[in-house]
Amino acid sequence: MHPHTHIAPAEQLREILRRIDGRSYKAYQDIRGSWQLDDMTLVVDHVQGDPFAAPSRARLFLSPGLVDFPPDLLSSPSRILGVEARLAREFARRAASTTRKMGSGRSGEIQMEAPGQEVLEGTAVRIAADGGVEARFRVGLPARGRRIQGRQAEELLLEALPLLARNSLLARSFEPGDLRLHAETNEDAEALRTGLADAGLVAFVADGAVLPRSSGIDDRPMEGSAVVPFRAPETLRTTLATPNGGPVSGMGIPHGVTLIVGGGFHGKSTLLRALERGVYNHRPGDGRERVVTAPGAVKIRAEDGRSVAGVNISPFIDTLPGDRDTRRFSTSDASGSTSQAAALVEALEVGASALLMDEDTSATNFMIRDRRMQVLVPREGEPITPFIDRVCELHDELGVSSVLVMGGSGDYLDVADTVIAMRDYRASDVTERARAVAMEHPTGRLREIPHPLAGALDEELRRPIPESLRPTSRRGRIKLKVRGDDEIVFGTEAIDLAAVDQLVSWSQTRAVSEALLLASSRVVDGHGTVAQVVDRVMAILDEEGLDALGHGHDGDLSRFRRYEFAAALNRLRSLRIS
Ligand code: ADP
Ligand code: MG
Repeated sequence: MHPHTHIAPAEQLREILRRIDGRSYKAYQDIRGSWQLDDMTLVVDHVQGDPFAAPSRARLFLSPGLVDFPPDLLSSPSRILGVEARLAREFARRAASTTRKMGSGRSGEIQMEAPGQEVLEGTAVRIAADGGVEARFRVGLPARGRRIQGRQAEELLLEALPLLARNSLLARSFEPGDLRLHAETNEDAEALRTGLADAGLVAFVADGAVLPRSSGIDDRPMEGSAVVPFRAPETLRTTLATPNGGPVSGMGIPHGVTLIVGGGFHGKSTLLRALERGVYNHRPGDGRERVVTAPGAVKIRAEDGRSVAGVNISPFIDTLPGDRDTRRFSTSDASGSTSQAAALVEALEVGASALLMDEDTSATNFMIRDRRMQVLVPREGEPITPFIDRVCELHDELGVSSVLVMGGSGDYLDVADTVIAMRDYRASDVTERARAVAMEHPTGRLREIPHPLAGALDEELRRPIPESLRPTSRRGRIKLKVRGDDEIVFGTEAIDLAAVDQLVSWSQTRAVSEALLLASSRVVDGHGTVAQVVDRVMAILDEEGLDALGHGHDGDLSRFRRYEFAAALNRLRSLRIS
């Protein structure tokens, strides 16, 4: 990971900065390259065009001896990730609070893309195999107007920056035990998730977990006396082993069909959201460090207005008005039910092992058609096979479990293997009671399936057409950026990812955008199916790491799952399938 290029002494950098002081901004180009600052190496990869542009991209390399991490702190990949995330947060926090404005625009700014509550493999801070550290960040080279402020640049690059690194990237920058907690918590979460399969579970929520968030726009844990920590119902209690925290007791959600029921505002969606995020590890203190979900669990929701390209939604929807073929369903404006059906089939196409759905974000007619509607609107006039009639097949035939928040329709009691009730934020196991209710109050509804699920899905082979995946603007230049938290601008298209709930950080969205570019340049050849394209992209990332994306040394990328990459590809409005 260390730069191979020639490394020049710091004094030379100082001389350049003094020489270009007061000159026009483009003279900053002279500081590109590698510089030895005492015991660190600074690499300036890219110099911004002016003080108002996105700040310049730079990296710092710290030797193993300087950072001085005890070897056992880094004895597994998950430990390393936990420590990397901790270092990045510290660097970013100190950078934000200590850097001061040194002129126009973003002069003097140091900025690192810090991880949020989730611990994702990222490029901001990496620990090398030898134990050294590489930090990637942006720095606003100082200017007044467009005139270089050389003295300020000297102070920024030769003093403030090394000091910041020293205060946030060394073992001794931290209280004893701090880094270890982050390493061990992350390793334990990994072990819990790995333990799910053997225990026959889709998810696990430890006793004491804090699921509610600070607010709808703040992902930090809720605090205060109102918080009800999670406690497992005795009948669903399981114990899983962790390497550092010993045995952990909590609620296991078994394979099959699980319902989360309960009154409005009693914590159902909060539980499901924690399960959605449980495919990722969380930082210590998050409250969800010991909430883990099978890595293949995918949140499915309705998203009317999205585009769909050649998806076989016929297991759920057939005989649309105008005789549209739902085995190759395409639209630029999906309805609630067709969008949810498409999302589900797309998730299965790339290997989802479990589905998570919330009534709050589902299309009612996709979820259920009750007895009275069956009588009033005969099957011939209704294109939808509701999810309730497929959910058991999904598990029995395809091994795909479902966890559903369903406070509004008791019809689902007939198909549930496990029923969890939330009341005053407390979970109880009401499976037995739900069975009794289902017996006492038969709904009389008929299962209406035109054809079995398994056979219907096999026909699906979607091959993206290369020309439909062009990241070029009208003028023929590559145009790729992330707008807001969840929109990718890809050539002339905008991909809306707001409904992709398991895309959890800006840096993930940014990495997905670069992966789309990589797919269009290196992978999509007209022969591969969507699943093969996704496999190939993920394999490239496994082989080459995240630096296969972007400029090759970007600090603002983090790892995403195959499902979220497929979700972005499938939402590209220009996508055509052969
Ligand atoms: P539901 O989906 O059952 O209608 P929600 O999950 O949306 O309910 O939760 C309703 C409110 O209760 C939310 O504001 C949420 O933050 C809060 N809440 C959820 N779980 C807890 C908990 N364990 N302790 C305290 N507040 C909680
Ligand atoms: Mg809800």
